[in-house]
Amino acid sequence: MGNATDEQAVIEAAPKQLLIGGEWRDAGGGDTMSVADPATGESLCDVADATPDDAQAALDAACAAQADWASSAPNERSEILYRAFEALDERADDLALLMTLEMGKAVAESKGEIAYAAEFFRWFSGEALRIDGYFKTAGNAQSRVLVMRQPVGPCYFITPWNFPNAMGTRKIGPAIAAGCTMVVKPAQQTPLSMLALAKLLSDCGLPPGVLNVITSRSSAAVSEPIIGDQRLRKLSFTGSTEVGRKLIAQAAETVLKTSMELGGNAPFLVFGDADLEAAVEGATVAKMRNVGEACTSANRFHVHESVAEEFAERLAQRMGAMKIGRGTDEGVEVGPLIDADQQEKVAELVEDAVSKGATCVTGGAKGDGAGYFFQPTVITGVTDDARVLSEEIFGPVAPIATFGSDDEAIAAANRTEFGLVAYVFTRDLKRAFRVCEALETGMIGLNQGLVSNAGAPFGGVKQSGIGREGGNEGIAEYLETKYVAVNV
Ligand code: NAP
Repeated sequence: MGNATDEQAVIEAAPKQLLIGGEWRDAGGGDTMSVADPATGESLCDVADATPDDAQAALDAACAAQADWASSAPNERSEILYRAFEALDERADDLALLMTLEMGKAVAESKGEIAYAAEFFRWFSGEALRIDGYFKTAGNAQSRVLVMRQPVGPCYFITPWNFPNAMGTRKIGPAIAAGCTMVVKPAQQTPLSMLALAKLLSDCGLPPGVLNVITSRSSAAVSEPIIGDQRLRKLSFTGSTEVGRKLIAQAAETVLKTSMELGGNAPFLVFGDADLEAAVEGATVAKMRNVGEACTSANRFHVHESVAEEFAERLAQRMGAMKIGRGTDEGVEVGPLIDADQQEKVAELVEDAVSKGATCVTGGAKGDGAGYFFQPTVITGVTDDARVLSEEIFGPVAPIATFGSDDEAIAAANRTEFGLVAYVFTRDLKRAFRVCEALETGMIGLNQGLVSNAGAPFGGVKQSGIGREGGNEGIAEYLETKYVAVNV
């Protein structure tokens, strides 16, 4: 069992107010909203519920801090980020427990997320020192071309509940490195992790007003005035494609620069020549990380007909043996889903597949008790018209369909409006290249079930998004290019 005293202590220590211009303050209307534990459905604590006026005040603070922050020394920005990288490691135990309490995933997974989140601060601590430009002689030798890169300006970040810390550091890290100020709005289910991250950054010397955090139940009402404000220069959103579309439409009004990390529907392809042991291991990671509540989660398995039965059996054995329970309990690998709606949606998708002829090899039902649990589930014989193949599941369900040829596998993988990530398992190098080149996705895990890496460009094509986070590309999203024609 988790330690109730520790749990209470981290909840008590977590900030619960808005951070605006370096001050922690209550919401203007004095309203609060409750944060619940998805393993029990019970309230953990209340946090401030911001109003549109608070949102405006947060943007005012970001705008007021922008000029000084843009002219700060890259060394200073780099050092703050490095200190924050180290502080995340030092505070990992408390931050992971806090995350598990509000989000549900097992503590070991929360620690994994904190380590991943910290890597963005380490990466962008280096990038702060590498912002460059160039100088050259114009073709006619009459003038010189001077190109400089400058911070974009005040940014607005909207983050989801599934990775409450890392989805923040992927945006906050490059913004700090580039010299941008920001307002961040976390999801209402998981505000505590973001507030704790903001406190950590203040403790590491981030000046007041550079990072402002608003937590709110009314995400659209607080976001609209910020997005519509001419002073805002960039919107970066991680969340569903449905909400992303609405935000892109709002951003069009002021021709706002946007980065969109949206939904996925990752195909996991297992070819006949694959190392099945490695494929099952990769499938378990790609499916079960974050209880399947990840945009990179393997959503559907397309397996060559010669190995499909064996793959399904082995995956079912592996997933069926995983321990379900409250994320704070010893040895738990599968925590609850985020809420009752998500649990209901996963149950519906399984029922739909089974009603169309599929078979549950393991799992298939909600867990016992008050929390929003769902059993790790493997379904075979999934027909093309099953919703589970086309909709993002966001739960621990692995539907398996078969293919006969490489062309069939590629066509099935690309049969979606999404294009975030795909996984490919094969031992044949030529096949690997052919398939990787033909897949319409921003990322591919080749013989591995995990692609997330702060030093690599994360992002999707098609309706999975616009732009990249991390890697050499990440900093560019926060810089404008200015060209000066120099008369010599
Ligand atoms: P969501 O419903 O789109 O919410 C994401 C964020 O947007 C939350 O902070 C939410 O706040 C806010 N929001 C919702 N409606 C809004 C509106 N009209 N205006 C402004 N903000 C609004 O997504 P989710 O259910 O939290 O997250 C799951 C989705 O995120 C999945 O589709 C997943 O694939 C995607 N995701 C993508 C990536 C990636 O990098 N591509 C990474 C992680 C997750 P409230 O919830 O408080 O209303």
